[in-house]
This record gives sequence, C-alpha cells and structure tokens, in this order.
Amino acid sequence: MIKELELLVRLQSLDMLILKKEEHRGGVTSAIKSATKEVEEKKRALAEAEERVRSLEKDRRDKERTMDDLAQKITDRKGKLFQVKDNKEYTAMLKEIETCKEEIDRHEEEVIILFDEISEAQSELAKAKEALQEAEGHLATAQKEGEKEQQRLEKELEEVRKERENIAKQIPPRFMRMYQRIVKSKNGLAVVRAEAGACRGCNMELPPQLFVEVKKGEEVLQCPFCQRILYYWEEPKPEEEEEE
Ligand SMILES: [Zn+2]
Repeated sequence: MIKELELLVRLQSLDMLILKKEEHRGGVTSAIKSATKEVEEKKRALAEAEERVRSLEKDRRDKERTMDDLAQKITDRKGKLFQVKDNKEYTAMLKEIETCKEEIDRHEEEVIILFDEISEAQSELAKAKEALQEAEGHLATAQKEGEKEQQRLEKELEEVRKERENIAKQIPPRFMRMYQRIVKSKNGLAVVRAEAGACRGCNMELPPQLFVEVKKGEEVLQCPFCQRILYYWEEPKPEEEEEE
C-alpha cells in the first residue's frame, strides 16, 4: 500500500476514535445532567410531602380549637341554665348544649382520622427525605466519577488529536481536501474497506478492474458509487500470517 493511502487509513481511524471519545464525553455529561434532574424532582416531592404534613397538622389544630370553643360554650350554657326562668328557653338551651356535644363528637372522629392521615403523611415524608438523600448520593458519585472520566477523556483526546495532526501534515493537500470533502458529505466516513469485490461503505459491487487496482494499493482510488476512498483489506485466514 502506498504511503498516502496508509496515512489516509490511519487518519480515518483516528477521526473515528476522536468521534467515539467525544460521544463518550457527551454521555458522561448527560449522566450528570440526569442525576441533577433526579435530585430536583426528589426535592420537589419532599416539599410536597412537607406541605401535606403541615396542612394536616393545621386541620387538626383548627378542629381541636373548635372543640375547645364548643366545650367552653357548654360550660357557659350549663352555668346559665339555672338562671333561666322560662321553660321554653330552658328547653332551647338544653338543645343547644346537646348540639354542641354532638359537634364535639363529630370533630373528635375527624381528629382521629386526621391522626391516621398525619402519621401516614409523616411516613411519606420520611420516605421522601430518604429518596432525596439517595438521589444526592447518586449525583455526588456521578459528579466525582464524571469529573475523573472527563479528565481522562480530555487527556486521551488531546493525545489522539496531536497524533492526527501529525498524520494530516504528511498527507498531500489534494488528498486532504478530498478526505475532508467526503467526511463532510458522508457522515464522517471517508476511507472504507474494499472486501470480496465490494465497497464496504455503500456495499455496492465494484467493477472488477477497479477492485484489482484497489487490491494493488498503488493509488488513492474512490468508489464510483459513494465516492469514498477505498483500501483493500480481507479477513486474514487463520493459517496465514497477517500481511500489511
Ligand atoms: Zn462505495
């Protein structure tokens, strides 16, 4: 294989490696993002659980205050009962006391139900706190590991880019232009294998004479269908030695 073609093959593999590492780096960033989102969601859930407990507690206090007021009213009416002369007024007052007692009973039942609801809401609150802690733990890990991973990837990318630059410098400008043009139009893949008579970029059968030329590796040749640069490569047979 002529040096130019060898260099183009190398350049393509380095560009693919750069792309893969950049994608990996993007993946690390999105893992941190999703862990951050998770924490925000758990915080919201916790705030809601806190609000639920608060509002139930307030309901309970309100009802207990009403019960106190009613009890006070009963005491008050009972005190006045003996001062009443009129029979009709006396009956009305007894009825009022009775109504107050019924109201107290009703509130008492509601308070009992509220106690159950509060205890349930408190256990939900405890769960929400735990879930938030867990999510915060995940985020901390994602950040810590992500940072290390990012640094590693940055360093690797820097090395690969340096090597790419070094290779690119050795490629004649007209081949570099050809390569860049194909990379742009073919989604990053400009140099492909020709194997078993076909282009592995577009999988079209190559004209036999072209395949023979590609096999020789003495020129930079393009696939007539997808324009990609071709090089010959066949899976080495197990008993044969790999030839470059
Ligand atoms: Zn092709």
